[in-house]
Amino acid sequence: MTLDRIGQLPIEVQGDAEVRRCRWADVTTLGVGAGQFYRISPNTLLDLKNILQFIYNKQLNYIVIGAGSNLIGSDEDFDGVVLDLRKCCGEIRQDGGIFTVGSAVPLLRLAKYAAEQGYGGISKLCGIPGLLGGVVTMNAGALGQEIGPSVQELHGFLEGREWSWQPTASDWEYRRCHLPSGVVLTEIVLKLQEVSTAEENELILSELNRRSRVTPRGRSAGSVFRNPPGQFAGALLEQCGCKGLSVNNLRVSEQHANWIVKEGDEPGRAVDCRQLVEEMRRRVQKQFGITLETEWRWV
Ligand SMILES: Cc1cc2nc3c(=O)[nH]c(=O)nc-3n(C[C@H](O)[C@H](O)[C@H](O)COP(=O)(O)OP(=O)(O)OC[C@H]3O[C@@H](n4cnc5c(N)ncnc54)[C@H](O)[C@@H]3O)c2cc1C
Repeated sequence: MTLDRIGQLPIEVQGDAEVRRCRWADVTTLGVGAGQFYRISPNTLLDLKNILQFIYNKQLNYIVIGAGSNLIGSDEDFDGVVLDLRKCCGEIRQDGGIFTVGSAVPLLRLAKYAAEQGYGGISKLCGIPGLLGGVVTMNAGALGQEIGPSVQELHGFLEGREWSWQPTASDWEYRRCHLPSGVVLTEIVLKLQEVSTAEENELILSELNRRSRVTPRGRSAGSVFRNPPGQFAGALLEQCGCKGLSVNNLRVSEQHANWIVKEGDEPGRAVDCRQLVEEMRRRVQKQFGITLETEWRWV
């Protein structure tokens, strides 16, 4: 085996994959985290499989990154490999209302493509800025709709081997899917409803317009906390005076108390982000006795 390594992976194992040194702040939508890592973008599923087999055999750390819109970076360098599947998992195939979608396809691209073919029913979700793999992992949702009920099958890799799963209704929870830990999703099979192309395009457009009106300006990672049962985290945080709280260049939006934005062009620090999140959590705990849980995934 060659001793010539990029990150923890010997060059021979990387196959025909692009490797880049990256910083969390540059690849996540909030823009937090000075820590660096090696990002590997396999060109084909076979390259991905080889890389994952090696990772599994050597028991290396890895993370899959989608659009980074729910992921908060770290200030420490990552001792492992970050997999970016945009080159090998970007296709959409269709057979009637059954869509087989690469895990790196943006949700909006799927919604628009399906609408052109006369299928849809996911227009309320189309303003969520994630790729399908991230959207499924988070069971992303909006306006009472979630991705889970449209998903029929999931395909990917687990412990270095091919893996498939047909989730049932009980496998989906609010902003959670009962995926086995460490799974790498490559393809998602969805069943979409028959719709009128013109009407679906209209619904997509109106949802995108609504989002641009209500979404706070600036870099963010969406809602910070999950809603506790029967309550809205944003309302609780607002009553605790969280709007406008800040730590260095991270600030709770004045528009939305469950939303942190980064100000200016400088990267944010994960340590500041945690401090701000903990202060928000502390206030709600003190005033209402409720412990909020973050929706975000921390590196
Ligand atoms: C402006 C804005 C608005 C938002 N609005 C909403 C909203 O209305 N509703 C909502 O639910 N969310 C919302 N979000 C949060 C976020 O967009 C969603 O959670 C989205 O589903 C995350 O997708 P992603 O591709 O960015 O995933 P990432 O943030 O890159 O990753 C999220 C998690 O999924 C894992 N993951 C990603 N891809 C794969 C894969 N292929 N295989 C295995 N694991 C994978 C990652 O390792 C990580 O644990 C918003 C975010 C922003 C910035």
